[in-house]
Amino acid sequence: MARWCAAQGWPVHPLAPGRKTPAGNCPACRDRSHDPRTCPCPVAGRACHGFHAATTERNRIDAWWGQSPAAGVGVACGPAGLVVVDVDAHPAPVPDRSRLLPGIPIHEAVDLAGLASGFDTLALLAAFRGQPDPAGDEGTLRVRTPSGGLHIWYRVPGPHTRFRCSTGSSPKVALAWQVDVRAEGGYIVAPATRTAQGVYEVQGPARRPAPLPAWLHAELVRTGHLVVPPVPRPPRPGGGGVRHRVRGAAARRVLVPLVAEVVRCGAAPEGTGFTEKLNRAAFTAGGLAAAGHLERGEARAELLAAALCARPWQELRNEKIIDDGLVAGGARPFHLEGRP
Ligand SMILES: [Zn+2]
Ligand SMILES: [Zn+2]
Repeated sequence: MARWCAAQGWPVHPLAPGRKTPAGNCPACRDRSHDPRTCPCPVAGRACHGFHAATTERNRIDAWWGQSPAAGVGVACGPAGLVVVDVDAHPAPVPDRSRLLPGIPIHEAVDLAGLASGFDTLALLAAFRGQPDPAGDEGTLRVRTPSGGLHIWYRVPGPHTRFRCSTGSSPKVALAWQVDVRAEGGYIVAPATRTAQGVYEVQGPARRPAPLPAWLHAELVRTGHLVVPPVPRPPRPGGGGVRHRVRGAAARRVLVPLVAEVVRCGAAPEGTGFTEKLNRAAFTAGGLAAAGHLERGEARAELLAAALCARPWQELRNEKIIDDGLVAGGARPFHLEGRP
């Protein structure tokens, strides 16, 4: 399974045999606290610091699981381009209805009798949005956990779309009660991993993650899961790869504020200049894509999600504004030369 995951382009790291937590650190890493990103161990082939050690390198993978065949497999979600909706079914006291779906008031008339787990809150969220319940999504990889939970795996639209992790009980960033989000800075247990409680088993026909549905993308944006890229450091002289990343970042710096303005239109149902703002963002994205600064499909997915966030009742209209804007902008390539 480790090799199969790596073949999908997903970096993997070993879990402690029989457990769902990462294999332990070496003695040096256990005793001293330090920044995992600068620790020499992962590069030297030691599986310290959990997902920070994750790799797609065949030799390292063969060495790790050769030494410890019973070790489970963790997948580093961020670099794998994955976002996993982790539905829990732990017995727990149900909180007040205001805390079940953060940001969505649940009317007193909605009968919540029988609501007991993340399966119920996720179904409620989908129902609120008029969308199918992701827990029943046969089109994507779903993994049943030994504790009766479910991992629903999705692909993010591209390398610049990054979501942060959350737990469903967090007062700051959460999707729904008893629903965690595994993304940047987190890992997910791969199917076929065995723990003392049982096996992580694929459920349903799909063996691969599907693209993240636009409405879930929008929900992740609405609930604060989107990671906005920091202003990049100046390029180091010489490195072509570095220059390329910085160019991508420059395009992000142009586009992200425009997309944020679209999202902010959600504060009121009208009078916010939504159409104009969405058109401007799409036109700019089209120009940046035509000049090779960003990937058109990824930008389109992001615009769709932002528009859905602000104007969920007019999905088709949003799509038309975006596609028209992308086409119009595409005829006018937006060059960023001299704007590192
Ligand atoms: Zn170490
Ligand atoms: Zn270390």
